[in-house]
Amino acid sequence: MTYTSIKSEGDFPYDLRVAHLYGDLMNTYGDNGNILMLKYVGEKLGARMTFDIVSLEDSFNADDYDLVFFGGGQDYEQFIVSQDLPTKAVEIKKFIENDGTMLAICGGFQFLGKYYIEASGRKIDGISAMDHYTLNQENNRFIGDIEIHNDEFDETYYGFENHQGRTFLADNQKPLGRVIIGQGNNNEDGTEGMTYKNVFGSYFHGPILSRNARLAYRIVTTAFHQKYPDVAIPAFESILADETKGQKITDIKRKVEK
Ligand code: GLN
Repeated sequence: MTYTSIKSEGDFPYDLRVAHLYGDLMNTYGDNGNILMLKYVGEKLGARMTFDIVSLEDSFNADDYDLVFFGGGQDYEQFIVSQDLPTKAVEIKKFIENDGTMLAICGGFQFLGKYYIEASGRKIDGISAMDHYTLNQENNRFIGDIEIHNDEFDETYYGFENHQGRTFLADNQKPLGRVIIGQGNNNEDGTEGMTYKNVFGSYFHGPILSRNARLAYRIVTTAFHQKYPDVAIPAFESILADETKGQKITDIKRKVEK
């Protein structure tokens, strides 16, 4: 286990409590870097950040947390997690339906939906917090740099995808972005990731938040505003403008049309 609980040190006027779901098992391709970025951005807002790994046999209470992070995993770890997940499903759904802010990457994103078919063909259940579902593919994975654009936010996000699952969204979910380079949810419909209420899902590793400061700002300020609706939030430019440098995909051929 990398940590059980970490906390900002020093004086902070506000507090944000983060649950890192199965952080000891679901943490592929640098996903734990998202924790560092959540801490960095939260502290810029004046919030003391506390992170707990909530893993196998731990209880998860929705009311104890302001933000939840659920990272990705290989099929082996995902199966282990799938055995424990039903014990937390009710509270995770409660957190989501109460407008809790969540970031779910790859395997974590798959688990919020109805089911995930492993590379082997075995079907494992998600928690059905949303109706997306994930099929498998034969002898293939979607691997590589990825770039998407969110038209609603007018933001571009960069990352690295590595998944065999092919996810299809439900009507009440929006994609996190439209694929510009890469394969995204399923390499068919041009979608990548999803948003639903205050939940953000994506296949981006890298980790997503370190590479996409605007998304990190969006997620942390969403959680902050939920908890402190009357507190003015500093503009992105005044706290994070420097962090937008050097994110772009520069060394791969741009594929405008797929
Ligand atoms: N095991 C899942 C898949 O291959 C998720 C992978 C991941 O989280 N990187 O689709």
